[in-house]
Amino acid sequence: MESVVDSAAASSAPSLAVVVPCYNEEAVIAETTAELLAVLAELESEGRISALSKIYFVDDGSRDATWPMLETLARKNERIVAVALSRNRGHQNALYAGLSQTCEDMVVSIDADLQDGPENIAVMVDAYRTGFEVVYGVREERESDTRFKRMTAEGYYRLMQLLGVDLVFNHADFRLMSRRAVDTLLQYPETNLFLRGMVRELGFRSTSVAYARRPRLAGESKYPLRRMLSLAWKGVTAFSIAPLRAITVLGLVSGGLALGLIAWVLSVKLFSNSVVPGWASIMVPVLFIGSVQLLCLGVIGEYLGKIYEEVKRRPRFHLREVVGAEPVLAADVESRGASIRSLNTQVYDNVSD
Ligand code: UDP
Ligand code: MG
Repeated sequence: MESVVDSAAASSAPSLAVVVPCYNEEAVIAETTAELLAVLAELESEGRISALSKIYFVDDGSRDATWPMLETLARKNERIVAVALSRNRGHQNALYAGLSQTCEDMVVSIDADLQDGPENIAVMVDAYRTGFEVVYGVREERESDTRFKRMTAEGYYRLMQLLGVDLVFNHADFRLMSRRAVDTLLQYPETNLFLRGMVRELGFRSTSVAYARRPRLAGESKYPLRRMLSLAWKGVTAFSIAPLRAITVLGLVSGGLALGLIAWVLSVKLFSNSVVPGWASIMVPVLFIGSVQLLCLGVIGEYLGKIYEEVKRRPRFHLREVVGAEPVLAADVESRGASIRSLNTQVYDNVSD
């Protein structure tokens, strides 16, 4: 008996889950699956990951053939789990949903278009095995991205640094996390997800792996400018109170200016004979202070909006179907992660095997 247990323990390499959010990715699914399966097979044959490793595809409400393709794959291959969200909830929510379904020792998140080469997963796994709990994939060179995308992305990382937000430069959502790091992340109850910032908040021993970003396999970017701006703004408001501080500074500056104007108006009134209060001296402060107030109200409104969303604590996603694995309910996530707060309730419309 004892020897069986011993040999099982000795051969127990950590299991790996690869989470892939997919939105209208029918053009890349086949190739992505083949490439990821090959990576898993190689790692497993070398004894670096266990045979229980899996790929979790999350269909983020795609309108093309993504879901039927994923469903077929999951039914045919026991290594593949297909999860469908009830509608499109955006990359961050889809990724979060995928993470919540995993139970493996290590979890790698990767984009469906494989721009972040899956060959780096092996390096990440090795880093995990030497004791790192979070391994960040860092884009060292992004020639494959358009000039505009490169410049805006890098400018954004610099801005975030300036605002005091702790981000890994040029790291997006290609990373490996240990089971413990994932369970800890799942305890964060916020609705506005900016995962690359949240993972940084977790702490744990971390390192990074640099790689050159490849061009998209096929299809077009699912991150148009509008979505990029929305994610950027989410990052700023979720992790920085610098805009709120700026209101104070603006208030101080406009207060100083107003004081100067008041002193001038009073001196004209008291020491001048031709006391005709000027149109300009009324209009200038009125317009100036009015505009500053409006701007400030706008920024406060942004934060208020965020607080409102958080207070409502709406579920971040609803699963429609899970194929190839037991669905993980919010309650399970909690008991596993020893969560202090109650997580979102996930509603299953239709859960099949
Ligand atoms: N994605 C998603 N939901 C969305 C938009 C994108 O799940 O609403 C996924 C998409 O399928 C891909 C990943 O997010 O796996 C990154 O998207 P993309 O490669 O288009 O972004 P880019 O590399 O151009 O920034
Ligand atoms: Mg991409």
